[in-house]
Formats: sequence, C-alpha cells, structure tokens
Amino acid sequence: MTIFVLTENSMHIEKIKKSLGKHYELSFMNSMDKFLELFSGDNNVELDSEECVVVLLEYDLYIQYDIASYFKKDEVVPFSPVLLSDNVGNIDLSNIFDTKTSLMMSLEKITNKELLIQIQLLIHNFYKMQQIQNYAFFDLLTKIGNRRTFMKNLELYFKYYQHNKTTFCLAMIDLDHFKFVNDTFGHLKGDEILAVTANIMQNNCRKTDMIARVGGEEFAIIFPQTELKQAYDVLERIRLCVEQTTEVDEAVRVTLSAGLVSVREDYKEYKDLISSVDLLLYKAKDLGRNRICM
Ligand code: GH3
Ligand code: MG
Ligand code: MG
Repeated sequence: MTIFVLTENSMHIEKIKKSLGKHYELSFMNSMDKFLELFSGDNNVELDSEECVVVLLEYDLYIQYDIASYFKKDEVVPFSPVLLSDNVGNIDLSNIFDTKTSLMMSLEKITNKELLIQIQLLIHNFYKMQQIQNYAFFDLLTKIGNRRTFMKNLELYFKYYQHNKTTFCLAMIDLDHFKFVNDTFGHLKGDEILAVTANIMQNNCRKTDMIARVGGEEFAIIFPQTELKQAYDVLERIRLCVEQTTEVDEAVRVTLSAGLVSVREDYKEYKDLISSVDLLLYKAKDLGRNRICM
C-alpha cells in the first residue's frame, strides 16, 4: 500500500521518510490539485477501494481546501487522513471525523517510532472498520449488496432522476420453485445456487450496475443510465446462463423469473418502482415462470 503525503514542510518530509520509508511506499504530492483529482472520485483509478489509503497532510491545507466536505454522510470514506501540525492546540477531533481511522499529530513532539506505531494502528483500525461495514452493507453468502444497500441506492438513483432526468431501470428477480430445490437437494446446495446465481449476475452486468440480494432467493438489479431494451437483454442473458449452468451439480437446475421497469415521470417516490416491478414479477410467475416481464 501507498501512503500519500501532502506537505511542503521539509522537516516533516524528512521525518516521514525516516520513520515510514522502510515500511511503506510513500508518494509525495506537491500540489493540492493532484490530491483533489485523486480523491474527488473523477480519477480514482489509482485507488483500490479494498485498500486502506492513508494521506498525511498539513492541517492548514485540510482547512483551506475544506477536505471535510469529502466525508459525506453514510458514505464510505475513501481515505484515512492524518493531519500534520506543530501547533494544533486543543482541537476536538471527533467533531472533524472518525477518530478511529484518522489522526491529528504534531510531528515535532512525536518520535519516529511513535509515528510508525500510530500509522500501523490507524491501518489496523481501518481494516476493522471496513470489515464491520462489509457486514452491514453486504450479504455474506453471495458477497453482493444486501437489502439495506439496495434501498439506499434506489432512493439515491430516484432522487438523481428527479433532479437530472437521468434514467435507470430496476429489475426484481426471484428463483423459481426454490423451496422444491431445497427440499430435493438440500439447503447447502440451495445456498450454493444462490452464490452461483449472484456470480452470474455480476459477470453479465456492468461495474456500475447495482446488484443486491433483497430476500431469501430474491435479487434486485439497478441499471443506471440504461434503456429498457438494454436492461432486458442483460436480464435475458442472465436468465439463460442460470438456466444452463451446471456449476453446482449436473443434476441441479434452477430457473428465474423477473420483472423489469424503467423509471417514469409519474412515479412519486422510489417505492412506486418496487410496487410496479413486483406486479411484473408476479405476472412472470403467473405466465409459467422462467421469463422476464417488462
Ligand atoms: P416461486 O417459484 O413461486 O418463487 O416458488 P418458491 O418455492 O421459490 O417460493 P417460496 O417463497 O415458497 O420459497 C422460497 C424458498 O427459498 C423457501 C426457502 O427455503 C428458500 N430460501 C430462502 N432463503 C434461503 C437461503 O438463504 N438458502 C437456501 N438454501 N434457501 C433459501
Ligand atoms: Mg421469493
Ligand atoms: Mg421463488
């Protein structure tokens, strides 16, 4: 992992190199623009979201460039800031950000060894926090988003649509006769099918599509900036793949039914999309299952 350092203070640079240089790759950035570009989300190709990204930056720059605005409520912070300052006085950090994954330190008062230990602790906390966030937002069996994540995303996409008219589609997918599958092949095989199905969905969707497990054998997909026809084609691919896969077992076959809608002017709130896609899912079941209704 790389630690990004944003400072022009030569004493700070020296100290950081001495205490952290042997243990971490250090990337010294000399302009705020580069930093903002890296963390604004427009250009985070260099950042692996699984990785802890530590940024050491001067407190003055933090204030001047309003870095706090990058910490949006309910969003996973893309980096852990460590604020450097030699005259911070008594600032209550908990008002600024999560103190478990952020630090403020006076480099003058701290030894090289202490600096290293602080950074190691911070990284440890970061991974712990990430683990907790994973439990809260992802489904453990299928490794995709859970119901909470789905609802949150749907609400956000709907709000975005209301402001910008950026279209999106919503699919609700339910495995067919899954009770029978469980009863016949056992719950463990059933679990495997759920994981394989989620995998098939991921392999057929774009990175920007949002896939979630919203119930036992129910999934939802949000297709941002996608027309109905395109989303239908993706779903149809998924339907065929699921129908044909023998990944779990040669004998175990499962099919799916799905409803698909695109967002429309007459929807008053995001829950209207769910009601409407649910009706289509029931229709797909009524018409004999293993099909998509839109
Ligand atoms: P339909 O085609 O009408 O959807 O029939 P169905 O049998 O799929 O529907 P029903 O709602 O009656 O049954 C859903 C089944 O999904 C029942 C339950 O045992 C199973 N299920 C729900 N969650 C899990 C899970 O986490 N693992 C496994 N193995 N099975 C699950
Ligand atoms: Mg169901
Ligand atoms: Mg079902």
